[in-house]
Amino acid sequence: MTGPKHSCGVVGVAATYNVASALHKTLMIIQHRGQESAGVSIFNGEELHTVKDNGLVQVALGAEKINKLRGNIGIGHVRYSTAGSKSVINAQPLTVTTSFGSMAIAHNGDITNYIELKEKYLASGTLFLTDSDSELVTKILSKYMVQHNDPIKAMKSTMGELEGSFAIAILINDRLFGMRDPYGIRPMCIGEIDGGHIIVSESAAIDALNGTFIRDVAPGEIIEVMHDHFIPHAGISSKNKAHCMFEWVYFARPDSVIDKREVYDVRKKVGEILARECPADVDIIMPVPDSGRAHAIGFSIASGIPYEEGFMKNRFAERTFILPDQKEREMAVSMKMNPIKSTVAGKRLVIVDDSIVRGTTLKKLVSMLRKAGAKEVHVRVGSPPVVAPCYYGVDMKSRDQFVATGHSLDEVRGIIGADSLGYISINGLIEAIGKPESDLCLACVNGKYPTRIPGEVHRFQSTLNSDY
Ligand code: AMP
Repeated sequence: MTGPKHSCGVVGVAATYNVASALHKTLMIIQHRGQESAGVSIFNGEELHTVKDNGLVQVALGAEKINKLRGNIGIGHVRYSTAGSKSVINAQPLTVTTSFGSMAIAHNGDITNYIELKEKYLASGTLFLTDSDSELVTKILSKYMVQHNDPIKAMKSTMGELEGSFAIAILINDRLFGMRDPYGIRPMCIGEIDGGHIIVSESAAIDALNGTFIRDVAPGEIIEVMHDHFIPHAGISSKNKAHCMFEWVYFARPDSVIDKREVYDVRKKVGEILARECPADVDIIMPVPDSGRAHAIGFSIASGIPYEEGFMKNRFAERTFILPDQKEREMAVSMKMNPIKSTVAGKRLVIVDDSIVRGTTLKKLVSMLRKAGAKEVHVRVGSPPVVAPCYYGVDMKSRDQFVATGHSLDEVRGIIGADSLGYISINGLIEAIGKPESDLCLACVNGKYPTRIPGEVHRFQSTLNSDY
């Protein structure tokens, strides 16, 4: 697919006052969606100003940079970090000059027909500076802007060419738009704030700005956002949706509501269903902090077994998942977590996490718990085994990374060194999310993709060899 992955956070704000601070605050709230780079683009009435850099929001967008920005309309972006894609050239918003003025886009998602489209546009003389699918989006948009002389029509035509996941905030001079792919794979919602309106990846940001959540941007919808109102436009709709299950299981903040389902509530239900599907006779339930916390609470409530904090997490530790080397990743886990001995010594316990990908985290944590004196260590997992890559923006790239590929449940149990191992079932997960299976993307756990991916099974195809 494309080089860099884009499971990121995006925001757009239109207000009666300078939006620099609101954009900055929002990016801090959705920082968990991307720690590699951060940026904002603001239109000051005459021209577009963009500030972006590598690093956390506080580093990339320091006060001295933000304080210089003026303008009542703008967009922002935090970029999800994956090993090997650190170049600042990939930082967003991406800004371009077109025949109708300046344009900036902030994109969350991955365009899965990127290669096909890029070849088509190269053949017609379009030049590309990067291998980023967001650049492709700007080229297609500007082509259709020239053709239609109307941004909504241009966005609709662009949507018709793109496949994959996209929740995009677009600034064209002093006009702000949001658009979401027809399946609604990545989230986006709209809210009212004092003197303005906001579109953003997660509703928690609207709360933090003391705003009022209005609704999700509908899959396939294009929304124009102004300070005092917003105008919805029908883009391209699809009968079925494909909301990413991993947003609820891991990616989003627990206090966000995505497509009408609160993330915390889903995670708690996952834990309750796990307790029903994979019970364990133990003394305590404990989470992997912070990713398994809500799931563990649900497990404890449903099983009636006390909940305890068994690990202390260094909240300033770096992310372990993206480190390139296995030894480094294992070392980083022990730098990040330390068992609380009085909780675990002599106990039979269940430790709950949201997911197992390579198995690095739980393998290390189980051995640390045993060293700290745990009598039995049972592992419970809030998503079914991850067995297929994500092409829509979550960093789970190749089958050979996944410990569940080519190993039985008991083999994985042996690899991580647990006394027992239980994953929530696919049906259990669907029940916890509370949406029909036909409205969810479960590709990473069932291998069926909602869009065409070369070499993969399409969700709607009738036989393996047929096109859908
Ligand atoms: P692993 O250690 O490879 O089994 O990865 C699982 C751990 O990483 C869990 O604690 C998850 O919360 C977290 N995790 C799962 N998927 C991702 C991802 N795509 N990016 C970052 N962290 C993840």
